[in-house]
Amino acid sequence: MTRDPEDTVLRVGQSDSDRYDRMRRVGWVDMDAVHSARILVAGAGALGNEVVKNLVLAGFNTIDVADMDDIVVSNLSRCLFFRDGDVRKVMKSDVVAQRASEMNPDACVSSIPKRIQEIDDWDYDIALGCLDNIAARMHINSHTYFRNIPYIDGATDGFRGKVHVVLPGGPCLQCTMNRTHVREAEKRFTCTGSSSTYVPRMAADITTTAVVAAMQVREAIKIASGRMDMCLKHVAYYNGESCEMFTAEASVDPGCVNHLLREGV
Ligand SMILES: [Zn+2]
Repeated sequence: MTRDPEDTVLRVGQSDSDRYDRMRRVGWVDMDAVHSARILVAGAGALGNEVVKNLVLAGFNTIDVADMDDIVVSNLSRCLFFRDGDVRKVMKSDVVAQRASEMNPDACVSSIPKRIQEIDDWDYDIALGCLDNIAARMHINSHTYFRNIPYIDGATDGFRGKVHVVLPGGPCLQCTMNRTHVREAEKRFTCTGSSSTYVPRMAADITTTAVVAAMQVREAIKIASGRMDMCLKHVAYYNGESCEMFTAEASVDPGCVNHLLREGV
């Protein structure tokens, strides 16, 4: 049987001149809302690099990246925006902001080279946590929850990863804390860089980082598109060794201080 060439030729048309044509083909994605969403990325390490890369490629155009550290050699195996010449010379957030902006001329990625606890402007639509310590996580969790800002927290430990989506009124990170977490929060401050005060070296690899970062930005696309109903409920655990993932629903702790504050109790 002779095949009609008209059926097999992929023709170049307008769809190939639209940067987001393939995204728009996902019916529920609202690209206008994605473009206009104001995003905070807390942490510019391995997860922060991957998250910002995904955000910029996906069409998020207004992104602030916060991190207080400079770049060290051990960052280079997991951070696509970092180069050898950056080591000990530049701040992580500055490099991520500059090089991510170069990826997409429509994107405005700004650097906040300071501690998460020093952020005083919380004028954001979505926050993504790419942090390496529980104290900073709890800080951003509290500030976003109080202001009804959806928060997507990512974490990795070797080949294991976790994503927690905190939506207004839903269970927050604090609700899932136990005594072990509290003890860890008291002693752990940061991961790498010259400002470190206590440095437990966590196992890490780029493949798990990439999976967790992709899940975080996927949830951000849902939220920006007004589809919170599609969001993860509430925590996803990823095991890269067995290639398994499962989700777990959290519940609101009635004694959680974040809920009491939000409700004005
Ligand atoms: Zn809570």
